[in-house]
Amino acid sequence: MGSSTNTPAKWDMEADIVVVGFGAAGVAAAVTAHELGANAVILEKAPEGEEGGNTRVAGQGYLNASSADSAVAYLTALCGPYTVPKTMIRVWADEMCKNNDWLTSVGGDPQEHQHPPVGIEFPDLPGSDCVHKFHDGPTYGYSYTWKRFESLVKERAIPVCYETPGRSLIQDGATGEILGVRAEQDGTQIWVKARKGVVLTCGGFENNQQMIRDYLGLPYCYTSGSPHNEGDGISMAMAVGADLWHMNNFAGPSMALKVPECPTTFSMQALHYSKEPEGGMVVVGPDGRRFTDEKYKTRHGKIAGHGTWKAMPTPCPMHMVFDQTMMSGGPLYDSEPSHGWTQIVERPDWSDDNSAELAKGWIKKSDTLAGLAATIGVDPDALATTVERWNRDCEAGADTEFSRTLMMAKFDQGPYYAIEMSPSMLNTQGGPRRNEKAQIVRPDGSPIPRLYSAGELGSIYSYLYQGTGNIGECLAFGRIAARNVLAEISLN
Ligand SMILES: Cc1cc2nc3c(=O)[nH]c(=O)nc-3n(C[C@H](O)[C@H](O)[C@H](O)COP(=O)(O)OP(=O)(O)OC[C@H]3O[C@@H](n4cnc5c(N)ncnc54)[C@H](O)[C@@H]3O)c2cc1C
Repeated sequence: MGSSTNTPAKWDMEADIVVVGFGAAGVAAAVTAHELGANAVILEKAPEGEEGGNTRVAGQGYLNASSADSAVAYLTALCGPYTVPKTMIRVWADEMCKNNDWLTSVGGDPQEHQHPPVGIEFPDLPGSDCVHKFHDGPTYGYSYTWKRFESLVKERAIPVCYETPGRSLIQDGATGEILGVRAEQDGTQIWVKARKGVVLTCGGFENNQQMIRDYLGLPYCYTSGSPHNEGDGISMAMAVGADLWHMNNFAGPSMALKVPECPTTFSMQALHYSKEPEGGMVVVGPDGRRFTDEKYKTRHGKIAGHGTWKAMPTPCPMHMVFDQTMMSGGPLYDSEPSHGWTQIVERPDWSDDNSAELAKGWIKKSDTLAGLAATIGVDPDALATTVERWNRDCEAGADTEFSRTLMMAKFDQGPYYAIEMSPSMLNTQGGPRRNEKAQIVRPDGSPIPRLYSAGELGSIYSYLYQGTGNIGECLAFGRIAARNVLAEISLN
């Protein structure tokens, strides 16, 4: 636990409200505080140009609920047996109805920043009609929403300190109050005083492999979002006594390529449910066998089964095995730059005929299936049996193992190819537990004084997830956090 002995002799900077992390939640907190007449500072870990976190590279839709009562019913149903306190759900629902109005009030245009229908994700659940009606228009992706959010900060006197990661919270040892943040800048530590409070908005733990092993039950997983989200907010909050919640919930897994040259994942055309390149393709686990409908449209990583929803299986290492027809059919990487960190920020080259990736070893090749099996380390007989069965099923027109209906193409005569797939995710949902005032609480439920959070760092989503819910929640709880911080008595 932090203590008053950590308090610096001199603070380097101070503000009424110190916001740690410049994504949607940080924007909502800082802009709300500014509109209420307070002064805010944002500390951001990434260099300028890479700020914005997952918000920057998201699909850009945010939820504006059309009815609070329906929203209560829908979120209650989405949480299922992983219940969330009713007071939290009510506050979430009430505030989610105000997102459009808020954006209008601070100079945004909500109609421009909602993406066309990806649909209501669980239409059979009660209250699902609360999901806002989407308007027509080509507004999906391309950082549109983020650019508007970012400009809301830039248009106001809200300083942003880039390349300034928050490292720890300064806590009064006697009162438990959070007095500020110790951050790092140019290799030295700086001390930032929060006269009223600190809001942690520094995202999830998508890039912290230890936390992924500890909390997600996966040996590893990579992200298509920001590489700067490393679970720092979780460590900082735990160090001052925070409880955690929803740590095992995440928007994933899917399957994607991860290479050492790039921090984030490459999405494969052939595994996208809406795309159907030609050629034979299956994904096999370490036993050389298929384990899922490769083209299944998961609900943010969850698949239906036995009357419930569970994470898609990802037995690692997994390989996408495919034939020459697919290899010759154009780029295997879905490089459309609408969303995802690799597409929007990294923008790596991918050759039209996949030859450069073959040369780099990202794609493995063999003239025979047995040779390919040896290269990727699976049993040759098992792989042969898998492909034979797949070919027979394609001829008969029915996937007898997993009822796949898309890309029902037999393998050609070779050569054959494989790409190792990793579990991939959009974002994690867990983090420090927060209450209806957006205060971070201890295991006994008592708030840690002057410490708040918003966004995916400890989101409300405990089980099922409605797309656009994350950014909607960032806006809602960012505002709630700022309002409650400003109600605190100012420290001298
Ligand atoms: C490809 C993709 C598509 C998605 N599409 C949608 C969508 O359409 N709608 C939707 O609602 N959700 C979507 N999501 C999820 C959504 O983007 C995120 O959950 C949401 O944007 C999180 O916002 P945030 O403000 O909590 O965190 P982020 O936007 O991730 O921002 C966190 C910020 O904190 C910074 N940071 C990290 N550590 C520190 C530290 N120690 N000190 C200071 N700063 C730090 C990071 O650099 C980052 O800038 C998508 C996610 C991905 C990856």
